[in-house]
Amino acid sequence: MIVMVFAWGVSYLASDENKIIGSTIIEISGFEYSISPMQLLIILVLIILAAWIFLRLISLFLAILRFINGDETAVSRYFDRNRERKGFRALSEGMMALASGEGSIALSKAKRAEKYLKKPSLTNLLAAQAAEIAGEAKHAEEIYKELILDPTTRFVGVRGIMKKRLSEGDTDTALKLAKKAFSLKPKHEETQDVLISLQTLDSDWRGARKTLSAKLKYGNLPRDIHKRRDAVLALSEAAEIIETDKRIDAQVMAIEANRLSPDLVPAAVLVAKEYLADDKKKNAIKVIKKAWESQPHPDLAAIYSEIYEGESPEDREKGFKLLAKMNPKHVETKTMMAEMYLQAEDFPNARRSLGDSYEIMPNVRTLTLIAAIEKGEGADDSVIRKWLTKALSAPRGPQWVCENCSTAHSVWRPTCFNCNALDTLTWMDVPETKAEVALGNERAPFVLDVLNSNDGKADQLDLDVEEDLTEFENSKNDNDGSKS
Ligand SMILES: [Zn+2]
Repeated sequence: MIVMVFAWGVSYLASDENKIIGSTIIEISGFEYSISPMQLLIILVLIILAAWIFLRLISLFLAILRFINGDETAVSRYFDRNRERKGFRALSEGMMALASGEGSIALSKAKRAEKYLKKPSLTNLLAAQAAEIAGEAKHAEEIYKELILDPTTRFVGVRGIMKKRLSEGDTDTALKLAKKAFSLKPKHEETQDVLISLQTLDSDWRGARKTLSAKLKYGNLPRDIHKRRDAVLALSEAAEIIETDKRIDAQVMAIEANRLSPDLVPAAVLVAKEYLADDKKKNAIKVIKKAWESQPHPDLAAIYSEIYEGESPEDREKGFKLLAKMNPKHVETKTMMAEMYLQAEDFPNARRSLGDSYEIMPNVRTLTLIAAIEKGEGADDSVIRKWLTKALSAPRGPQWVCENCSTAHSVWRPTCFNCNALDTLTWMDVPETKAEVALGNERAPFVLDVLNSNDGKADQLDLDVEEDLTEFENSKNDNDGSKS
């Protein structure tokens, strides 16, 4: 064929003079052929077609040869491509179904995609999520277990089962899985958060601190927040060690917590207590003053009062004045000074220190304080009763409240007992509906001592006050009961 074309081409070029207008003369092996342009065109097309068919036959022949020799790809490539197309179509349809929340459709598409693609790492991801949406929890778990077997999808599998255990409330297993997930992918922020919250729940403060520093390292936490939370965790560890009698370790940890976050009241209180137990009064005073500067708190005032126990009233007053200077305008400072003077039965100074706090911040504490001052100054029963009645319906005053869920806590905790968030407790006024019933002044019992002091005519008053309080408490409890 090629020879023919060549021969013709040569003769065509060589025989310019043979060319008659409208036709071509071809000479082959001594014979001459006269061809019209249309015939020439047809011949050319036929030649090209024949050449193409010939080449296809050769390649098919070679493919068959290779197939016979055991190389499947050559023949099956065509079919493979077809399968792949079908598989990816099923996969994309499945993802679409997943995105629109159609779990069972997504699941069947995932199965179809798997049939064509044979790529479990890819299709299982879709199938697991589809099973979750379709509510087939058991099926989802089986798929997650398959994902765990493949190193490329192990993290997704572990995370999937971890989330399932979390939703079932099996925090022990969830913790183990979270640790595994964290070791697979330490940069993953969600895993870090889950692990920290499970570790704090498990009181594994040291582990939580490690995870927290990983969070800082990978840039998922601002440095100041890390410092504060680290302090909270260190304090929690310290508080726990104290219970096991390893006081030296606890002290070190508490001092560390206080150093990391000097305004963390419970840390300051714990450190001050430890210093006081070792008779290091100066250190205790320093720690409390530092904390008072940024966060005045009755617990700090209470431990400060212990430091000056047994000292002369003058020294005591001097000491308290030093503390008050750290934050003189704060209501807590005024209340603290008023309580100090009240304890010393210096009623005019108590009143002066309290100022108008009971009007600006009328709560149980400030109102019982003014009632006690009035009583100490010999005021009329009706006046005292007026303040006490006000106190009964007044807000409790600041408490440790979770910023996350607004739950009030009677004592500070590293995590909220309601929502389990870490370091969300803030000393602030309780939102009305969540307030606990509180009567009297549990932090300063001497206020009630003053109110209950016997000077003849007050007997009747004391009785009535107690009756009122009991009645009030009962009615509050009833209300709470009917609400829940
Ligand atoms: Zn909470």
